[in-house]
Amino acid sequence: MTHSPIWHPFTQHALLPDSVFIDSSEGAYLYAKDGRRIIDAISSWWVNIHGHNHPKIVAAVQEQAAKLDQIIFAGFTHEPAERLAEKLVGLTPPNLTRVFYSDSGSTAVEVALKMALGYWAHKDKPRLGVVALDHAYHGDTFGAMSVGSRGVFSAPYGNFLFDVHRLPFPETDREHLTVEAFEKLLKTQTNDIAALIVEPLVLGAAGMRIYSAATLRSLHALCRSYGVIFIADEVMTGWGRTGTRFACEQAHIEPDIVCLSKGLTNGCLPMAATLATEDIYQAFYSTDRAKTFFHSTSFTGNPLACAAACASIDLWKENNVAELIKTLHDHQAALLPRLAARKDIENVRHIGTIMALDVCDVRQGYLSDIAPKLYRYFLAQGVLLRPIGQTIYMLPPYCVSQDDLNFIVGVIERALDALACGDLENI
Ligand SMILES: *Cc1c(COP(=O)(O)O)cnc(C)c1O
Repeated sequence: MTHSPIWHPFTQHALLPDSVFIDSSEGAYLYAKDGRRIIDAISSWWVNIHGHNHPKIVAAVQEQAAKLDQIIFAGFTHEPAERLAEKLVGLTPPNLTRVFYSDSGSTAVEVALKMALGYWAHKDKPRLGVVALDHAYHGDTFGAMSVGSRGVFSAPYGNFLFDVHRLPFPETDREHLTVEAFEKLLKTQTNDIAALIVEPLVLGAAGMRIYSAATLRSLHALCRSYGVIFIADEVMTGWGRTGTRFACEQAHIEPDIVCLSKGLTNGCLPMAATLATEDIYQAFYSTDRAKTFFHSTSFTGNPLACAAACASIDLWKENNVAELIKTLHDHQAALLPRLAARKDIENVRHIGTIMALDVCDVRQGYLSDIAPKLYRYFLAQGVLLRPIGQTIYMLPPYCVSQDDLNFIVGVIERALDALACGDLENI
C-alpha cells in the first residue's frame, strides 16, 4: 500500500510505510483486511468508551441521517443539538449553563481560550496571561500548541506560538511547588492572569502522568481567589476514563470552562463541546455586534454527531457504565502486582481505567527508540498499544473482557522479556 496518497497523522512514513488496513470493528476488536483480529487496548486513541460499532449508536446515526444530515448552525438549531445541550448541562456542574459545539478536542480548546481571552477583552480590562502546566498537551492547532508543552512536536512552529506562563508538573510529594508557583505568579502579575488551563488529574499525551485531586482543588481555589478563569481540558479524562464521569468531580470543583470531545460520541463521529458559565456568556451578550463570539467551524453542531453523542450518553444508564468502569478498574488493579514486581519497569500507575508504566533505563522522551519497536511487537501479537516514549499504557473500551486484559498484560510482559534479551531489534 506504499502507493497510497494518504499522509497519515503522527506518522513518519519513511519508517512506517504501510498502514494496517482495518475493515471493520466490534466491541474491543478491530478486524484487519488480512484477517487478523486486533484488541484495541487504547480505544482508538482514547475516543472509544462503550466499544466499537455499538448497535444503539449505529441505529441513532442511521435514523438521524435519514432525517437531517447537516445544517448551518448560525441562526439555526435542531432537535439532537438541543437534546444534547440539555444532557451536557445536566451532567456537568450547575455553574456551566452554556454549550458551544465544535468538532475536535483541539477546536474545543481554541474555543475555550477565545472565550476566556474574549471575556476579559469585553470586560474592558483585558488580561493577557495564560497559565498551563509543564508537559501539557491540548491539541495540535496553533492556540492549542501554544498552551501545550514545547518539544519535538512544535519545534518548527515555535516562533509562531504565543507565550504562556508554565507551572511545574505536580510530582508526588512535591505538589506544593506547583501550587506555590501559581500563587507567586498571581501575586506578581496582579490582574494580568486571564486563565489557567489544565488536564485534570492525568496529563495524557505527556505519558499518563497522574497528579492528585487535592492539587487540582488548590489550583482551582487560587483561580477563584484571583478571579482567573479555570479551564478544564477533559478531552481525554472525560467520559469515565479516570473513574468518575469527569475528572473534576474527584476534586469537587466547578470549572468555569470545560472542553469535551473524544468519548463524547463514543468516538464514532467527530464532535466537541466547550461548556461555559453564564458570566462568560454574558460578557459576549450585547446588542453590540462587535461582541459576538466570532468562532465557527462548518460542521458545528452536526446533527449526526449530536445524535451519536445523545445515544452514547443514554448508554451510561442503560448499560450501567459506572459499574462497567468499576469492574474494569478492579480487573486492572488485580493485574498490577504482576507488573509492579518486575525490575525492568517503574512507576506502575493506575487511575480509573488507565494503566501505565515506564520502561527503565532507556533514552527518555518521545523519540525514544523503543516505542516504535514495542508498537510493532504489540501489533504482531494482535494488540493495539502505542507507547509514548518509554511509557506503555492501556486505556481500553469499557466492554473489554477480563481474558483480553490478561492477554494484553501477557503481551506486555513478553515484549519486556524480548526487549531484555535483544529480540525486539528484529521486529
Ligand atoms: C487529544 C487531546 C486533545 C486534542 O483533541 P483532538 O480531537 O485530537 O484535536 C486536546 N486535549 C487533550 C487533553 C487531549 O488528550
